[in-house]
Amino acid sequence: MGLEHAKNQLELFGSCAEMLTNMLDVQHEALLLVDHDGLIVVKNQAATSIINASLSNQDITSVYELVTDENHEKISKRLKNFDLQSKQSSCNVSFNSISDAQAVTAALTFTSVFNKENTLIHLVKVQTSSDEQANVSAIERSEAIRSAILDASLDTLITIDMEGDIVEFSASGESTLGWSREQVIGNSLVDLIIPMEMRDAHIQGMKKYKDTGTGPLLGKRVEVNALHKEGHLIPIELALVSMEFGSERYVTAFIRDISERKQAEQALIDAKEKAESASLAKSRFLSFMSHEIRSPLNALLGSLQLLGDSLHDKAEKKYFHIAQVSGDNLLSIINEILDFSKIEAGHIQVHQTKCNLESLLNTILVVSEQKKDNDQVRLFGRINTNLPKIVMLDEIKLRQVITILVDNALKFTDKGMVQCAIEQGESSGELKVTVEDTGVGISPDKQAKVFAEFEQVDAVRDTSYGGTGLGLAIAKKLVEVMGGSIGLKSSLNEGTVFEVVLPYYTDDANSFESELNSGHGEFLVFSKQQEFHEQMKRLLCQDERTRMTFASTTDELDVQFQSEQYYALLLDGASVDQDIRELQQHFPSHTLVVGKYDEPFMSSVKQVEEPLTNIGMYRLLDERSDHHADTDKSKLDLNHALRVLLVDDVEINRVVGRKLLENKGFTVDDSADGFSAIKALEVEYYDCVLMDMRMPELSGLDAIEIIRKSSTVNHDVPIIALTANAETSEVERCKAVGADEFVSKPFNIDFLTEVIQNLQSKTIRSSLLETKSKG
Ligand code: ADP
Repeated sequence: MGLEHAKNQLELFGSCAEMLTNMLDVQHEALLLVDHDGLIVVKNQAATSIINASLSNQDITSVYELVTDENHEKISKRLKNFDLQSKQSSCNVSFNSISDAQAVTAALTFTSVFNKENTLIHLVKVQTSSDEQANVSAIERSEAIRSAILDASLDTLITIDMEGDIVEFSASGESTLGWSREQVIGNSLVDLIIPMEMRDAHIQGMKKYKDTGTGPLLGKRVEVNALHKEGHLIPIELALVSMEFGSERYVTAFIRDISERKQAEQALIDAKEKAESASLAKSRFLSFMSHEIRSPLNALLGSLQLLGDSLHDKAEKKYFHIAQVSGDNLLSIINEILDFSKIEAGHIQVHQTKCNLESLLNTILVVSEQKKDNDQVRLFGRINTNLPKIVMLDEIKLRQVITILVDNALKFTDKGMVQCAIEQGESSGELKVTVEDTGVGISPDKQAKVFAEFEQVDAVRDTSYGGTGLGLAIAKKLVEVMGGSIGLKSSLNEGTVFEVVLPYYTDDANSFESELNSGHGEFLVFSKQQEFHEQMKRLLCQDERTRMTFASTTDELDVQFQSEQYYALLLDGASVDQDIRELQQHFPSHTLVVGKYDEPFMSSVKQVEEPLTNIGMYRLLDERSDHHADTDKSKLDLNHALRVLLVDDVEINRVVGRKLLENKGFTVDDSADGFSAIKALEVEYYDCVLMDMRMPELSGLDAIEIIRKSSTVNHDVPIIALTANAETSEVERCKAVGADEFVSKPFNIDFLTEVIQNLQSKTIRSSLLETKSKG
């Protein structure tokens, strides 16, 4: 009968009921739909499980069958009466149980509505005591986990409510801030933990959060100070998050004590500052030492050069040579250590200047040739003729790098050649400089370490060559500062090639190619040595303009003269003998002799000065034949026409310098201080001024400034600044006030001569024509 009734009711609900059943089934809670007579119209899966567990699968149709008799009245009251106010009521009941097991108790919650027939229908939520138990223990468990996590957290977590009172405080707070949980809960955060100077900002921040739900620090991680219980401040990292529960809002602060990290950071900063000030002191000391050591060395080496000219005795010459070589070595060691210290102290900057590649290469080669004391090694240089003549790069640094590489190559080569080549790199804005030798080489396993500081490949081998092991470390650092790279290829006992690739730019449309006339055509090369052929090939055949034929005996040479017309003949001076001389009437009009030879040839044969360069050879071929005469003499004559003013406060420097310059043919006046130099420049026309920078009263810098601002004929005289201080800043200051060049003391006279001559060819003086025409 119960079933019949249920069916009728179901029909009443129609398809809606089916849908309702499905919806109720997916709920986790046990739910029954019951009519006003207690008939169960729908029960969901969870409710079926509870009923089955209690009544062992008895099929029941009424809620009255579910509960014990004494509960019927409670149920009936709720099913029949409807409380309009609450619409919901609940009661605790005991379930019928067929087994002996402990009776199940449950809370029933009735939510009641009228259906469309105006009879009451109830949704009954069934919650057994075991459900409640489970709920309670789940809450307890999660609470226990939460507080264990909080307490184990290295960060201190503090939660405050909207009034700024502390509602949570994790255990680690005690070690971080000194306060225990009991001491702080319920108290205001601002009074306990916020430092005085931050309290206003904190209160403002809280107010803003209360009003708008946002705050300046929410969601951020900041470093601030917190107040410790004992009154001192501790540095903390702070992150704030906000939480909302209905109308309630909380803010939790995650606080990490960063005292140790801060101490470590401070220790690092202190160490860095200490190191920097030590480095600064070192740099000052070196700069001072540079001046103090180089000045007397200047006088010493200069006097030696003069002495050398007057020595005739073989033994004396030998001692002189030893003294000179040792002096030069001492100077280069001092220079390397100074350079390295400067680079280490970060005192180098790139200064792009207009650089004439030809004079750059020439000055390096002339000075290195001068130092070279081995006739078995030929030094030569080559510039690719399609390069522009003038490029923008840091000339001083590049000069230093190439000098290091060339000097090393000469040092480690006993026989053969050292060649420095400047070419276009693989891409158009790149310059490639290679220094190649036929020396001892470097084994593959040692190649990587040669660029390290104080590294020599073989302590035993390299000690005999001398050196500090700093040269390549300096070269690498300089190249890197200029934005380039340096590498090497080498085979033991065969030789080494160092390659530097540097970025450059140019606005000079003139390449060497466009300026040089000669060199196009077939060259005949004569030497009894195969090596000479090879060297000439390397020097000239890289340019498409030049082709070569080789002869190694007089007969071969004779045959060539008979059969071909040659544009030029290159003779190896060392292979010239009487037979060759007898052929000289067949020589082409362009004939050059390389290296020493004994008797002079007929006048059209020109001597090529070493070190050889391809450009130098082409220029020589370009000269008109009546211009060749004795090149050394013509150079001296050229120098003789040049009047140089040497300004130095140290008498020995003036005496030695003057003599060295006069030996090179210059006409020299000297001045002992800046004022008398300025006076001298008012009276006499000079072609060049060599100005010492450090002089009492009026320094060289000030004197240059006055000269440049003057209106005398010498206002634009080329000025070379001389100083013992090798600091780059000094070079910049000299150039900034108007010096044209910078030569460090003690100077090498050949290098200085080269610089003076270069300046003459570079400078067009506005006063020149006027003065010379007057003179
Ligand atoms: P050093 O003052 O000893 O020359 P470098 O830094 O200039 O110092 O060179 C480091 C080492 O690299 C040298 O001691 C030498 O062993 C090796 N080295 C440099 N250049 C060459 C070269 N052209 N041929 C052979 N070995 C070289």
